[in-house]
Amino acid sequence: MKQRDFLIVGGGVVGMAVAYGLARAGQGVTVLDESDDALRASRGNAGLVWVQGKGVGMPRYAELSLESAKAWADFAGELTERTGIELEYEQRGGVDLCLDAEEARSRQADYAELQNASRYMAANFRWEYLDREALTSCLPGLGETIPGGTWSPHDGQCNPLYLLRALYAASRALGVETRPATPVERLEATAGGFRATTPQGQFTAERVILAAGLGARQLASGLGLTAAVRPVRGQVLVTERRPPGGRLPTPQIRQTASGGYLIGDTHEDAGLDKGVTLAMMQSLAEKAVRIYPDLEAARLVRSWGALRVMTPDGHPLYETSTTHPGAYNLNCHSGITLAAFHAEGLAEAIRDDRLEQSFPHFSGARLHVSAS
Ligand SMILES: Cc1cc2nc3c(=O)[nH]c(=O)nc-3n(C[C@H](O)[C@H](O)[C@H](O)COP(=O)(O)OP(=O)(O)OC[C@H]3O[C@@H](n4cnc5c(N)ncnc54)[C@H](O)[C@@H]3O)c2cc1C
Repeated sequence: MKQRDFLIVGGGVVGMAVAYGLARAGQGVTVLDESDDALRASRGNAGLVWVQGKGVGMPRYAELSLESAKAWADFAGELTERTGIELEYEQRGGVDLCLDAEEARSRQADYAELQNASRYMAANFRWEYLDREALTSCLPGLGETIPGGTWSPHDGQCNPLYLLRALYAASRALGVETRPATPVERLEATAGGFRATTPQGQFTAERVILAAGLGARQLASGLGLTAAVRPVRGQVLVTERRPPGGRLPTPQIRQTASGGYLIGDTHEDAGLDKGVTLAMMQSLAEKAVRIYPDLEAARLVRSWGALRVMTPDGHPLYETSTTHPGAYNLNCHSGITLAAFHAEGLAEAIRDDRLEQSFPHFSGARLHVSAS
């Protein structure tokens, strides 16, 4: 059997966006994924396609987020055309709420700095601070104790589960072989490429991409790649379906296409525990009612916890192994927002083996972590 061009370890939104992009460019790809009990950020996230707040301290990340958000409409349209799956994507702008005056002050200072950080940002990044009164037109019924928030037209939302489903469907239609319940136990270099050992047998390819989220911690160092990601837990609450509120999405709370409000932006150091806690759910519910007092009467119907995939500085890691050419490691905590870029620019750079040249800011070298 002909050896595949690429093995991708990890069938989350990062691995599948790159698989889709590579397959679209004619590459032969096999994706190996774990089973349903694995840690999977792609199945527990908030579904925001979000530019605000990205890249503070690293303007190139802000640019990448903005570029990806701009490409999202075409990306979503193409996936729907190929698969018939609607991603519930919309880009009507979004608001990041400031819950007190200090948050409002420091946010505005950060964004002003970001806007001056490069010519691209100065020309393209649009945002505005709106006080409570101004916000009520885009967030009707906003609570009286919210002082304001930053608005940006670039922000939007999607259904992240439909995104993942569409990426699988589109990739398979392009010939990508997807193997669920196939955990990779060992990755090693061979004479002609790489070999993955799993309980279901061995798989080989000329090149290998680690898109294993937190699983990188077990597999990366063997190929000279950075294994420095850590889990950051987020808990999410969902209300019953409510009539359309005409409210722009916020990272704190957003109304989904089916009517439920998705509440949650917690960032917790809880190790590998992806459970929920009563204290955190209570605090989320209180914050939701502070933002939209009419939700006091809403029933909660679901809750979950999920683990973010966090690099040491919080910025994406796009890495090529120096000790094992042809091995790559991809980690980021904004895989929904960046999906359009991952399927396009990132997949092309990997195909052409110019990842470090094209995206040097995101190399593992910046982390000063020796890959042992
Ligand atoms: C609560 C929460 C809210 C979030 N909200 C947003 C948001 O609004 N917008 C946004 O852009 N991002 C958001 N994110 C981040 C986003 O979900 C992640 O960036 C993205 O899902 C990461 O995708 P991934 O494919 O790298 O990781 P994962 O989804 O974790 O996928 C990794 C895959 O690798 C597989 N794997 C691991 N080890 C192995 C192995 N040894 N063998 C085979 N397979 C393996 C796992 O089974 C898994 O399927 C949020 C995350 C959380 C937790």
